[in-house]
Amino acid sequence: MSKPYAAPPKLNRERRFPDNMQAAHALTLKAKRGARGNRTGKGYALPAFNVTTYQGIDSAFTAYETLGSSGLLAFSNSALKHFGSGDPLLGLEQVSAYVERKAARSSVQVATHLDHGDYIGESGRKVVQGAVHLLTSVMADNSTDHAAKQPTPLEDNIGYTREVVNMAHPVGVSVEGELGVLAGEEDEDTKSDFSTYTRPEDLAQFLKETGVLMLAPTIGTMHGPNKGKPGHKVKLNIPLAHELLKVANSINDEIIFVAHGASTRYEEVVSYAVDQLGKLGSGNGEMIQAWKDFVGTDWDQIQGLIGAGFCKINTDTENRQTFLAALLGAVTKNAAKIDIRWYDNQMWNAVTASYIKKLIMAGNHGIWHEPKIDVDKFVFDLNNT
Ligand SMILES: [Zn+2]
Repeated sequence: MSKPYAAPPKLNRERRFPDNMQAAHALTLKAKRGARGNRTGKGYALPAFNVTTYQGIDSAFTAYETLGSSGLLAFSNSALKHFGSGDPLLGLEQVSAYVERKAARSSVQVATHLDHGDYIGESGRKVVQGAVHLLTSVMADNSTDHAAKQPTPLEDNIGYTREVVNMAHPVGVSVEGELGVLAGEEDEDTKSDFSTYTRPEDLAQFLKETGVLMLAPTIGTMHGPNKGKPGHKVKLNIPLAHELLKVANSINDEIIFVAHGASTRYEEVVSYAVDQLGKLGSGNGEMIQAWKDFVGTDWDQIQGLIGAGFCKINTDTENRQTFLAALLGAVTKNAAKIDIRWYDNQMWNAVTASYIKKLIMAGNHGIWHEPKIDVDKFVFDLNNT
């Protein structure tokens, strides 16, 4: 592990990515400054959509281009394995080429991001190295040793993360670090039974020694569809978020905070899914209860975070829920339709609408051009997608 004594390398802003692609830091910094078109206003956020299929990438592009949004496509290790039929490095090659072609024809600017890359294990290192070559942004999540199921000591987290910064910043690829441990399960590679808040004194040391410009501090968000007991509200530590922002801005006011586990529960999706399960038969009581029990983070909490400099909000669960609800709806509408494309469209039109809803909520519209729809009149209704 390299000793983080010398000043960390600065992000190379001269790097030119393929057409209409930028580092995640460039797009999120624009959001922190509230820059859209020629105007500057209130800060907004980039929802990072975890895409796991090519149709998901297409849906995200359609949503961005409908609204003129800044786009952020996130790929987890397990998504890359899925794209690459088990080989995450092949997956990386395939998705980066695919996104590059889509972006070249796009009306907006997008970033591609490795979600929860780690530099601790051998396989994680290879994916991070591949992502530095093929994506515009990487997350170096070294706060938890997932193989050993324990938090990494601060010095080790700093050391591993600094190695990624040393490799990525000179070629213009922005790096997101993680400090503190986030509870919950994102996918089979990223889960934790415990959580610890980020300590302000650790934050200063971490930022200075790693040089990261994007950071996921831990302030009470959780991964997964069950962020607490059913009926309970998730309470984020917004005062701590503001305290951490002050520390970060005093070191470099271009530092962007990232909220993981920022999925909200879409009531219209839950009730639509419950209706479809009811139509599908009387034996679905347990599944209906599972849908009713999903606990997301309330949007007013996430808005509090955006105000505290969290300009990248990771949202995955509500889009997965939308996909499944639309699948249930497709089956109840017509279970004898022998046409893969019809089902495909049913699900992905719904997910596109789910993406549009979140982009509007986050204020991320009219950035690269005026929206093609009236954002104030947009209604998310799975009966009409
Ligand atoms: Zn995460």
